[in-house]
Amino acid sequence: MNYFITGANRGIGLSLARLYQSRGQMVYATCRDRAAAAELLETGARVVQLDVADPSSVEMLRERLGDASIDVLINNAGISGGGKTLAECNGPELGRIFMTNSVGPLLVVKALHPHLERGERKLIVNLSSQLGSITNNNGGSSYGYRASKAALNMLTRSMANELGAAGFTCVTMHPGWVRTRMGGDQAPLLPEAAAAMIAEQIAGFNQSNSGQFRSFDGSHLPW
Ligand code: NAP
Repeated sequence: MNYFITGANRGIGLSLARLYQSRGQMVYATCRDRAAAAELLETGARVVQLDVADPSSVEMLRERLGDASIDVLINNAGISGGGKTLAECNGPELGRIFMTNSVGPLLVVKALHPHLERGERKLIVNLSSQLGSITNNNGGSSYGYRASKAALNMLTRSMANELGAAGFTCVTMHPGWVRTRMGGDQAPLLPEAAAAMIAEQIAGFNQSNSGQFRSFDGSHLPW
């Protein structure tokens, strides 16, 4: 199987790239800056330069991948951003969070659509967050992050509806609270453990799961 993973130079993305490489799969893994991707380069994955928040960088993907096929796209790159309170929010920062967490993943799907069509599984997994659940939002704060992940959930559902007839499966997924730069030191899950659980879920997804919001442990999350 061929996997395409964005934001794979560290954190969950790096662990997913390592795991699939160690299982002998073909991995295309992206980073913004090759100079900061030593650990990713060591995995042996095919490293592709990509800034998901820059539409011209995303557009170049199609050309860069040529006629390769992709079975599974994992839109993993994301930022938490600032703007935790209303007073801290500002337009440019909110725009940056939405470009990275919502618009970017959609444009990556658009750019890689022909490659996914050539793949066997036609599976798109968008890494969202439980903080993107509107139902479960009792805490407020993190306006940009929560709203951008809720938007990603909506985009996933729309993709599932549009692409379903062509055999695509589109799932949005909470990866767990994971000890990465984003998740922080207190997070209970190590990235390797999270990657293994995410991969187990991914292995089982089929068209009947399309349009679902799932957690790393297999449970369903409310929109
Ligand atoms: P992380 O350690 O902060 O890593 C984020 C990755 O995304 C890095 O490789 C980063 O690359 C990349 N990235 C950021 N902006 C990018 C851009 N514009 N273009 C391309 N790549 C970009 O985060 P993580 O914890 O592994 O999180 C991975 C995903 O899981 C994210 O979508 C996050 O929202 C989600 N998530 C994580 C947790 C958690 O507890 N960790 C919980 C819920 C959801 P650079 O090194 O270049 O910045």
